Amino acid sequence: MARVSYPYEAPVSQTLFDRAAAVTPGGVNSPVRAFRAVGGTPRFMVSGNGPYLTDADGREYVDLVCSWGPMILGHSRPEVVAAVQEAVARGTSFGTPGEGEVALAEEIVARVEPVEQVRLVSSGTEATMSAIRLARGFTGRPKVIKFAGCYHGHVDALLAAAGSGLATFALPDTPGVTGAQAGDTIVLPYNDLEAVHAAFHAHPGEIACVITEASPGNMGVVPPRPGFNEGLKDACAKNGALFISDEVMTGFRTSRSGWYGIDGVKPDLMTFGKVMGGGFPAAAFGGRKDVMGHLAPVGPVYQAGTLSGNPVATAAGLAQLRLLDDAAYETVDAVSARIRALVTEALTKEGVAHRLQNASNMFSVFFTGREVRDYEDAKAQESFRYTAFFHAMLAQGVYLPPSSFESWFVSTAHDERAIQVIADALPAAARAAA
Ligand code: PLP
Repeated sequence: MARVSYPYEAPVSQTLFDRAAAVTPGGVNSPVRAFRAVGGTPRFMVSGNGPYLTDADGREYVDLVCSWGPMILGHSRPEVVAAVQEAVARGTSFGTPGEGEVALAEEIVARVEPVEQVRLVSSGTEATMSAIRLARGFTGRPKVIKFAGCYHGHVDALLAAAGSGLATFALPDTPGVTGAQAGDTIVLPYNDLEAVHAAFHAHPGEIACVITEASPGNMGVVPPRPGFNEGLKDACAKNGALFISDEVMTGFRTSRSGWYGIDGVKPDLMTFGKVMGGGFPAAAFGGRKDVMGHLAPVGPVYQAGTLSGNPVATAAGLAQLRLLDDAAYETVDAVSARIRALVTEALTKEGVAHRLQNASNMFSVFFTGREVRDYEDAKAQESFRYTAFFHAMLAQGVYLPPSSFESWFVSTAHDERAIQVIADALPAAARAAA
């Protein structure tokens, strides 16, 4: 039976958490950070350097969360820090156009061929919310198809069966979203094209768009089956709907042009966040020029933001993207492959049934003997084993996502020493999970 132990108590983090809980619901500003699924004290981090995080108790961890994806070059990469310092020194927000946002938009357009025009926003949630509104405005239709287990931010209409956060807390959906807000959302099983065809058949002329994670990471990593994204694209084209590929997580991480660079299926609209902000709040949506032309001020669909294209955030994002050349992706992919092999080896040695799934360098381990193809499969895993595994890794200085429904993330900074820490920690963690 899997055994959970908390050999290290983190007293300073605990004191901070108690203070936080008095003034902030659950002591956190985003639910999964609270360790609710795995128990124990959430670590309050005070600094990050390369592949390492240091907590308030002065303990160092190899970071396999990387701020949930953005820190693909590791923490405090000097070139990114210098670009931020230079931008900050010139002023933090002007509320006018600036050259940095043009350069960041040009970089995105140059990397991702289906994006002819792009608009910058401040979070992935804003990007998907705006893309959906634009799709509805462009098509004049109300309904949206999304897939169970895919998370697109906490947009009212998209919170149904939305993967990690909700799965971690065993919430089917969320109160506060009205029937009217969710009524135009059709939730289908992931990787099921038949269900998509049936939905288009049942709602002729009503479906504005299909939105999917390009390769989902929010129910753990569950890649699309061969032909799935292409089938979505074709179904949309045939039925006059737009195909929206959410690349907030995969964009500029799974390749220099994201998941599009891997499967080549051309969406009508795409959404981005995480890596493109270099650790700052920057995100974007973009795509076909004729569709983007429906946005204000040229078109009738309204969308805006006080801090959109913020000069400091765009400087960070641009500096990070410019460092992400082919060699950088080769490094991240190689680090990911090595860690995956180590995890498999350790769990296999202890006879623990598991399934390691990856989408390029994103990966996660499911404690199940079966392939995980959709949200139902993901929920059928033995999450209690992950809890034991997680705490054993944490105790030995490896920081994993505090939920079994999340992707693990690595960076170019995960060097030999960091990988050795992981290798040394894995045998005991595998034994704890057994
Ligand atoms: N879309 C996907 C695929 C995501 O993974 C996330 C966040 O994890 C979002 C959208 C929402 O982004 P944000 O947290 O920046 O609002």
